[in-house]
Amino acid sequence: MATKYIFVTGGVVSSVGKGITTASIGRLLKSRGISVVVQKLDPYLNVDPGTMSPYQHGEVFVTADGAETDLDLGHYERFLDQDLSRSSSVSSGQIYQAVIQRERRGDYLGRTIQPIPHVTNEIKERIRGMGRESGADVVIVEVGGTVGDIESQPFLEAIRQMRKEEGRDDTLAIHVTLLPYISTTAELKTKPTQHSVRELRSVGIQPDVIACRSDIPISDEIRDKISLFCDVEPQAVIPLMTMPSIYQVPLVLEEAGLGDFITDRLNIASASKDLDEWKAWVERLLNPQHSLEIAVVGKYVELPDAYLSVKEALIHAGVQNDSGVHIHWVHSEEVAKTKSEVLLANMDGIIVPGGFGERGFEGKVDATRYARLNNVPYLGLCLGLQAMVVEFARDHFGTEDVNSTELAPETAYPVITLLDEQQRVVDKGGTMRLGSYPCRLEPGTITREAYGANETSERHRHRYEFNNEFREEFARAGLIASGTSPDGGLVEICEIRNHPFMIGTQFHPELRSRPGRPHPLFDGFVRAALERKARSRKKSSTAADRPSRRKASASSRSRAPH
Ligand code: GLN
Repeated sequence: MATKYIFVTGGVVSSVGKGITTASIGRLLKSRGISVVVQKLDPYLNVDPGTMSPYQHGEVFVTADGAETDLDLGHYERFLDQDLSRSSSVSSGQIYQAVIQRERRGDYLGRTIQPIPHVTNEIKERIRGMGRESGADVVIVEVGGTVGDIESQPFLEAIRQMRKEEGRDDTLAIHVTLLPYISTTAELKTKPTQHSVRELRSVGIQPDVIACRSDIPISDEIRDKISLFCDVEPQAVIPLMTMPSIYQVPLVLEEAGLGDFITDRLNIASASKDLDEWKAWVERLLNPQHSLEIAVVGKYVELPDAYLSVKEALIHAGVQNDSGVHIHWVHSEEVAKTKSEVLLANMDGIIVPGGFGERGFEGKVDATRYARLNNVPYLGLCLGLQAMVVEFARDHFGTEDVNSTELAPETAYPVITLLDEQQRVVDKGGTMRLGSYPCRLEPGTITREAYGANETSERHRHRYEFNNEFREEFARAGLIASGTSPDGGLVEICEIRNHPFMIGTQFHPELRSRPGRPHPLFDGFVRAALERKARSRKKSSTAADRPSRRKASASSRSRAPH
């Protein structure tokens, strides 16, 4: 079978859920036994989002092969339960860089280099290359941004050409839009969608499917109107109502008939659908028996997208343990100002996620101290491990003059230092220790027990590491290296002895968590948090039991007349 291509564009506004829709389409096809791969085309000129501020871009998702990519790749991997490679993330920056490099080499033999055909050819080559490299039946391509943006024009032109070259049977265009709700007249508006489709047509792309995001149900009348005005079949107008959980979206799209529509239109033989497992998992997600209050202490908490995979990993581990997880986004600068005892009281567990630079670091150290002294389950991710080591060492040496050399180069006790391989690195883009590396787990540790294995492989994104000079001394004092690189040279995981669950990882376990396959450390963390909660409830109920006997009899008296 020739590779088929599905192109997903967005209209009206950004953040309508195009990434989730794309990921969900992948799930629908995969659940029919069709192999898929997803590629994101980002119109910005950065080569990758690794150099962008989380405020600009949200989380940087790292693939196993070490690419720093858009957070939508996280959704794709989680919905497909499939690792993606660096080819899944393409930016205008990469495209222009490749074209200009070729021009400098003289590959174009005196020709004038232009957006069409040189840039568009490079884009098409990346898309087709994805098909070849993956061998997938279907390549789903999501175009970042919104139709009408100047910077996405070359991508749309490349797609227009590909639709012609590959043939109508082998490509499908899906446009995701928003139907705004006007409260005064209590109606959904279709006009912005009509305009957006007109914009798309003006670049030569007629959509086959329009997925319409809305906050209230879409009536048949509206569906017919969009069908007529935008020239798509009525069953190809797919209502996409805002759902309590993103994981419901594949089920909503399936219900609306999108999976069948796609396989019919692309003429793909599909095995029987199997979304039962997904459905059962979503059921458990929506109806948990227990609940947890978890603090995530970071400096970008105003924009939780900066910690997207952490949030999803907590959800996955929650479902595994039949628990809802209520995340409290705690600003680390606030922790430094207000006492942790105030901000973190009543938390069943604390996470300090990754980060860079000095701002907010002291608050993270304070949160770590609170977790250690109060036996609160703690999971430190990358900078969260480093904060945990700094806190432990400050206590151990009895001085505040302990730090990571990233934050205080002249510190008396540099417990976290630059990786050797980073000493001569000057460029900022794509130069960290990135991607998957193997890790050996230390027998007899909580870490090893959580993994249930002797080794693992985890994704990294950092320049600094635990300073081995302190390894033995700290191990004697109760902070042990529970995971190292196979040669033992790099500390990858630390844990605190005599604490129910206090683990820090130099890598990012959150990037590997999947629905139905939570990351073992998140799973262990959530379990420890539930145990702590159960213990403290028992304690408070036995404490309450004694004096409350009198109260109980008083209340039964007061109930007596009824
Ligand atoms: N800034 C730290 C380092 O580079 C931690 C990085 C991170 O949290 N991803 O090592």
